[in-house]
Amino acid sequence: MTRIHLLPGREKSLLRRHPWIFDGAVKEKNAPVKPGETVLVCDAKDIPLALGAWSPASQLRIRIWSFDPSETVDAAFFRRRIAQAVALREKLGVLDPDGGCRLIYSESDQLPGVIVDRYADFAAVQFLSAGAELHRQTIADALLELPFINGVYERSDATVRRKENLPERCGCLAGKNIPGKIIIKENDLSFEVDLLNGQKTGFYFDLRSARAEVRRLAHGKRVLNMFSYTGGFACAALSGGAVSVTSADSSAPALEQSKRNLQLNGFTGDHQHICADVFNLLRQLEAGKEKFDLVILDPPKLIPHKGAMMRGCRAYQDLARLGYKLLAPGGILCNFSCSGAMESALFQKITADAAVEAGVNARLVRHLEQSPDHPTLLSVPETFYLKGLITVID
Ligand code: SAH
Repeated sequence: MTRIHLLPGREKSLLRRHPWIFDGAVKEKNAPVKPGETVLVCDAKDIPLALGAWSPASQLRIRIWSFDPSETVDAAFFRRRIAQAVALREKLGVLDPDGGCRLIYSESDQLPGVIVDRYADFAAVQFLSAGAELHRQTIADALLELPFINGVYERSDATVRRKENLPERCGCLAGKNIPGKIIIKENDLSFEVDLLNGQKTGFYFDLRSARAEVRRLAHGKRVLNMFSYTGGFACAALSGGAVSVTSADSSAPALEQSKRNLQLNGFTGDHQHICADVFNLLRQLEAGKEKFDLVILDPPKLIPHKGAMMRGCRAYQDLARLGYKLLAPGGILCNFSCSGAMESALFQKITADAAVEAGVNARLVRHLEQSPDHPTLLSVPETFYLKGLITVID
């Protein structure tokens, strides 16, 4: 195994169990190591500290697999890590056979670059780093050994793979072939998920707790559901007794899927789907007279990298201001940010500024966050990304 040395003093984050080593911290940054190969990370005095995967194309040069340098990164290693991730989901009670959940959440489950979502008896997998890529078949085979998994499907079509010089790839990796669409249960609701063409792996499990909260709040409300994707919040609101739901998304296939999900759950009532850019639509709605009692704003990541911070913050504030403007007295805003670069306190400040701009007095009644099957590893604060605020206006 190649020994890679950190420059003097650059082992500090690693000693705090943070698994990322950037090229600037590495002495042999151009070492002739193959993409994804395991290296032994040593400090400047040649003391072994950890095992990591080498990513020659990325500034994030090494991702740590293990802080125990005597471990071996082999099939047994991946089986152990997967078993640990499964045990946590078991504790959380999210392994309902007909349901779905995030089974492996990358750094949080000490498998950097590996994302696994379970949809009933299928695992949909994303390999996002050179190390994950090198071991993809081993990981897929280990997943297939789980008693509740019968097929493993790869959705490595995420653009972040470009940073690692990895091509996009999708297809069956192990076990039985995927039927294309699959129906899963969440909070007693059914959702049809398109595993082949849906966004990411098909469904946003990180919003499970938020959808349950929306269900509790929706009774008797006129709901505006922006960035609605396949109707997760729409179904939650209707099951909670919303009197009407207006959903909008820029993706026509997502809206078609949303309609099917409403049918699947027997919601025939007042629901409108609008295919539009939400930023424009909110301005149009603001010009009209219609008001809502619950406005949900769940945009995609508006700060994809640090350089987009200012623009992203303005967009979040813009959305919240328009959301507040559309609320009837006593109305509720439920706004989200899934941008990791957006700190909780800043998101709250932006939302507060938006309320001032909209001329409303708003009270924060609840913080929402990613569901527990997307745990935050305390040593890796970057694993926390989803923030939601429920505010009520006078
Ligand atoms: N709330 C959803 C998840 C939303 S994901 C759920 O419960 O599952 C973000 C969504 O925003 C995606 O469906 C994407 O198609 C949509 N989107 C992105 N940019 C948009 C825009 N400018 N206007 C409308 N929709 C947009």
